[in-house]
Amino acid sequence: EKTKNLNQTTHIFKSKLPDIPINNTIPLHTYSFQKLPQISHRPCLITSSGETYTYGDTHRASRNFAVGLFNLGIRKGDVIMILLPNSPEFVFSFWAASMLGAVSTPANPSYTSPEITKQLKASKAKIVITHAMHVHKLKQQEEENTFKVITVDNPPENCMSFSAISSMEGKLPEVNIDPDDMVTLPFSSGTTGLPKGVILTHRSLITNVAQTVDGENPNFNMKEEDVVLCVLPLFHIYALHCVMLCSMRVGCTVLLMEKFEMRAMLELVEKHKVSVVMAVPPLVMALSKNPIAEEYDLSSVRMVMSGGAPLKTNIEEAFCSRMPKAILRQALGMTESGPVITMSFGFAKHPMASKLEPCGTVIRNAEMKIIDPLTGSSLSYNTLGEICIRGQQIMKGYLNDERATAEAIDEEGWLHTGDIGYVDNDDELFIVDRLKEIIKFKGYQVAPAELEGLLMSHPSIEDAAVVPQKDDVAGEVPVAFVVRSSNNGDFNLVTEDAVKDFIAKQVVFYKRLHRIVFIDKIPKSAIGKILRKELKAKLPSYQVNP
Ligand code: AMP
Repeated sequence: EKTKNLNQTTHIFKSKLPDIPINNTIPLHTYSFQKLPQISHRPCLITSSGETYTYGDTHRASRNFAVGLFNLGIRKGDVIMILLPNSPEFVFSFWAASMLGAVSTPANPSYTSPEITKQLKASKAKIVITHAMHVHKLKQQEEENTFKVITVDNPPENCMSFSAISSMEGKLPEVNIDPDDMVTLPFSSGTTGLPKGVILTHRSLITNVAQTVDGENPNFNMKEEDVVLCVLPLFHIYALHCVMLCSMRVGCTVLLMEKFEMRAMLELVEKHKVSVVMAVPPLVMALSKNPIAEEYDLSSVRMVMSGGAPLKTNIEEAFCSRMPKAILRQALGMTESGPVITMSFGFAKHPMASKLEPCGTVIRNAEMKIIDPLTGSSLSYNTLGEICIRGQQIMKGYLNDERATAEAIDEEGWLHTGDIGYVDNDDELFIVDRLKEIIKFKGYQVAPAELEGLLMSHPSIEDAAVVPQKDDVAGEVPVAFVVRSSNNGDFNLVTEDAVKDFIAKQVVFYKRLHRIVFIDKIPKSAIGKILRKELKAKLPSYQVNP
């Protein structure tokens, strides 16, 4: 009985739930708006200021914007960049792109100009949708690769307004969409190197939404009457998938918050009787432990999902006393895997209750295995190894990067996650470590290679390595080992603060370096790979610089 979800020869783990038929050969927007005739009057989006858009309004606004984009020349396969915080226009832009067979590439509006430019260049976006205050960060590319700018507020010179584009006359063209056409292009550094475009297709997203919310599924029983808090940014796949796509498939209401502010969030939860909260561990901690939360009525919350980074395990009691009716669940996700890999049944008062520490069991219609990272052989229960996932939900590959794609997805179609864990006798997955380089600051990705590249561009830095340091609030923060160059510039000017400032000017807040350790040499393997484990282990032994 214990081993019923594991194939004994290949050691492939399956869900405890039966597979279901998934109609993933239709376009994503058709699948997501399938219930539109029945629910067109129901609220789909509510903004923090109380504006409400029904499912009918949302579909209409998306369609109107699609017609406008078509008039601007956007065709099948073209890329538009959504550089917006959570907002109705984010949602309309995403669907407009999908309806045209085009592609949206979501980006963090807090990015610096160089960060945006990298994504613009790599994605070859033809349109950027943003706020007027971010327009100065947009640098036009080479002539054959320029883009138009649409602002959701008053457009500055040379920009167009979202509402004007949405009121253009015209008809939505008939577009032939193949299930394997790309629909969205988030960026992720994956297991190594710089951020890369992750090709997610209509098929992959439909599959992953269906795996999460379709069919009889005590794992994730979202209901039409649920109000789902969307405080995590939609430009990250977690909220885009688990909040927007899953909610819209089910027909529930998404409460959009532009940015996190504790009191404002709690007020909204109380006012709109939020029932589902998709969270990252620091938010679960705040809801469970921050005394401010005591002042608000959170009794409407029935489910909190934690994902994006590991959840500390000592919060069950605090969580239950604050939200006695709520179930706390964990999920493991990764941009490249579409994103959900495993999900728990919730540890509180549920017939399929699971432990809190593990991330749950593998989703249905998918296969998971744990492999020995050295030999590649699959492992049985209670043995540590790299987590691999296979199914129609995983990415098609990295944009224009065959090598990175081949490193991530093997010939048998397994995506290697770079996460280290094991499955216990109850089929639950425990994440123990990370084989890959990425650092997770409150669930946000920080790619060491990106920061190392910037550090090395400093004339007085000879070599650098960036590793994570444990942090009580953020989970992890990036810290750097730096080798100063002895023959270039003034050695003494390269202080800890100077290096931190040098980076801070070029990156979004969560990529800032929290500590610099000056050393003589970066330890490397025979083939020149930074020995990150060694550096991480050494970290506590270094004094904080005076
Ligand atoms: P991203 O592509 O930004 O979603 O990052 C994916 C990575 O975040 C995973 O491969 C894990 O390393 C980490 N991660 C996501 N969810 C969890 C979780 N529940 N527990 C531990 N690590 C997680």
